Amino acid sequence: MEIGGNIISSVEYHGKISLVIFMAKCPLRCPYCHNSELLDGGEEISLSEIFKIIDDSSEYIDAVVVSGGEPLVQLDELVSILKYSKRLKLKTKLDTSAYYPNRLKKVLPYLDYLAIDVKVPYNKYKEIIGSDIGEKVEKSVKIVNADPNIFLECRTTYVPNLLTSKDIEQISREIECDLYTIQQFRNKNVLDGNLEDVESPSPNELKKLAKKIKPVLNKVKIKTSEFGEECI
Ligand code: SF4
Repeated sequence: MEIGGNIISSVEYHGKISLVIFMAKCPLRCPYCHNSELLDGGEEISLSEIFKIIDDSSEYIDAVVVSGGEPLVQLDELVSILKYSKRLKLKTKLDTSAYYPNRLKKVLPYLDYLAIDVKVPYNKYKEIIGSDIGEKVEKSVKIVNADPNIFLECRTTYVPNLLTSKDIEQISREIECDLYTIQQFRNKNVLDGNLEDVESPSPNELKKLAKKIKPVLNKVKIKTSEFGEECI
């Protein structure tokens, strides 16, 4: 399998210390992607080496988070990692773009927490992200909502030149989830160089957006580099 590395984190799984494994490869090319070096491949590593990394950290972690890239590209390896983590009684979380709803169904039995990037309103994927996957994302959100055992977070990175406050309002009406997070766009190391001139939205701007949609979605958070995560 191919990965982009791993880290220990206290912020990737709320309230837990987690081992985060970044799986390489992704079928999308989001203009604001910060992981462009991972999109076509990464460092070769065997599953047994990954299991050893999990074993070595298992004494001080509560959870394993698999992020990317798009982890569902390497489905068999992902399932093995999640199964292994569950056997060690660790919590499991997956970060996904929801590109593969049918593959997603196969990993749900081994997940406690799923974070889906709902990048734009469903009907704007082609225009803004360059790939017409709105229906896939919608289907994925519905599949997860039908499973009461999984905590579902939906997240949107708010990029001022690509999205408007109306888009965030539209997303809030289209999704159903346990938590919605608006993430602050950062203009460093982005795939589309044109976005390097776009200013990051201020924490106040994100707070205003979050307050607007709070009546629609009960639990709303913002995530900024200045203040970390804040519940609204
Ligand atoms: S889905 Fe994530 S990893 Fe893939 S291109 Fe978009 S931001 Fe990058």
